[in-house]
Amino acid sequence: MKLVKYVLDSSAFIGGFLPEEDEYFTVHEVIDEVGDDISKERLSYFLNSEKIKIKDPKQENIDKVVKKTMESGDNLSLTDIKIIALSLELDSSIISEDYGIQNVSSMLNIRFKSIRELGIKKIIWWEYYCMGCKKKYSKDKKICGDCGNIIKRRPITNKY
Ligand SMILES: [Zn+2]
Repeated sequence: MKLVKYVLDSSAFIGGFLPEEDEYFTVHEVIDEVGDDISKERLSYFLNSEKIKIKDPKQENIDKVVKKTMESGDNLSLTDIKIIALSLELDSSIISEDYGIQNVSSMLNIRFKSIRELGIKKIIWWEYYCMGCKKKYSKDKKICGDCGNIIKRRPITNKY
């Protein structure tokens, strides 16, 4: 099975994106744009587990996107431009909820999808569980009160 490449913008993370079997990339500026704690925690989890990789696009691709954005008149941030440039570079699709990104992407023949269109799983919350006795905790705790083992977390997922 051939893996599909996707580039994700911050709106995808805020919208509750969850990686599956495909290859996922983003640019490092997105980390600063993901403001709320839950999305930030989720993003760092996927970066640490290398489910999502950070890559910087080449300047020539950034220039191409800047030119197109000036033509279209869309108001895109440098982060948005880098997202599109990386997608151009990797010949990938974009996952974004942002209309401006979608518009410039379509002008460059880049396919894009919103989270809802993907029909992918969505994280609803984190679950904390003991590595020893498997007891589940609803809150982040360091040590299991029953057996003294370390508590780890995993995302709970839900299909649309
Ligand atoms: Zn335990």
